[in-house]
Amino acid sequence: MKIISILSAFIIVGTCSKPRYTARIQNLKDSIQIKDSATICNYANTITSQELKTYLYEFDSKEFQGRRAGEPGQKKAANYLKTYYTNKGIASPFGNSNYFQTIPETFFSDGIKASENVLAYIKGSEKPEEIVIISAHLDHLGVTEENEINYGADDDGSGTVALMEMAEAFHLAQKDGFGPKRSILFLHLTGEELGKKGSEFYTKHPVFPLENTVTNLNIDMIGRVDDRHKNNKNYLYIIGADRLSKELHYLSEKINNTFYHIELDYRFNAENDRNQYYNRSDHYNFAVKNIPVIFYFNGEHEDYHLPSDTPDKIEYELLEKRTKFIFATAWQIANQDKKLALDIDNELLN
Ligand SMILES: [Zn+2]
Repeated sequence: MKIISILSAFIIVGTCSKPRYTARIQNLKDSIQIKDSATICNYANTITSQELKTYLYEFDSKEFQGRRAGEPGQKKAANYLKTYYTNKGIASPFGNSNYFQTIPETFFSDGIKASENVLAYIKGSEKPEEIVIISAHLDHLGVTEENEINYGADDDGSGTVALMEMAEAFHLAQKDGFGPKRSILFLHLTGEELGKKGSEFYTKHPVFPLENTVTNLNIDMIGRVDDRHKNNKNYLYIIGADRLSKELHYLSEKINNTFYHIELDYRFNAENDRNQYYNRSDHYNFAVKNIPVIFYFNGEHEDYHLPSDTPDKIEYELLEKRTKFIFATAWQIANQDKKLALDIDNELLN
């Protein structure tokens, strides 16, 4: 009898001091509160397939010659983005008319010339020092030996125009008095196709301290449908969301379940997946610095890394829905009361 009561006392103490894993996960899920649904929808709805299409045809222009890093076509693409942000009145993080983070020739090899990341910035109203980064790469493969242009409409024109539309939506919200509490950096990276060089440079020379960088939401190819999903186009691959912050994973799911109902496909998130996409685009350089990331991706398709990756093949309605989902996710991260937590720091999990 005595033994039993000591044992049951021990169990009770044990239960009180640390909830079971499933209870801790439930507590984490319950802690994610979406407070401003109507406002989120309002500004998400300013993201339209028509504008995404208009921008993508411009960004994929022949003039930009496939946007190979360091080449004149890539510079034109960078200037196109600068002009867009200037005309919209969306600031540079440098506080002047310079939107470029220049990467010197010495940072590259194989005769690649100096190139630039393009940065636009919306300053947070309450916690401006905390930064949410949304990124996409602006460069592509240039021109083939047969002199054909690699348009890279999906890779990564789709991510580029998604950033342009999201920046406009956040900017409109700010003008109406609903600006984000944390700051948002729209980071157009160069040199991804040369080995993630733009993000490597940024993380070595961050414009804002990495310890205050809350997350990196990276978009690389979200305008197409892969063979696996020909019969269900309403999907998106999510990679990396739960690796450093389960809060990020459940926040992303909650946003999707609340607003968009996209089939979030996690197959490429498996650590032993042979494609290793987690390591293969710009978010990885942030993840190795212990910054939680999500990589948004539609999978490979028959035009991947070919001149036939053109803007007429983009599914603009899908691109719109996926962009709205990423926008709403960024909104939540930028506005929720508590800073997004790493699992190791999350009191609900430990
Ligand atoms: Zn890409």
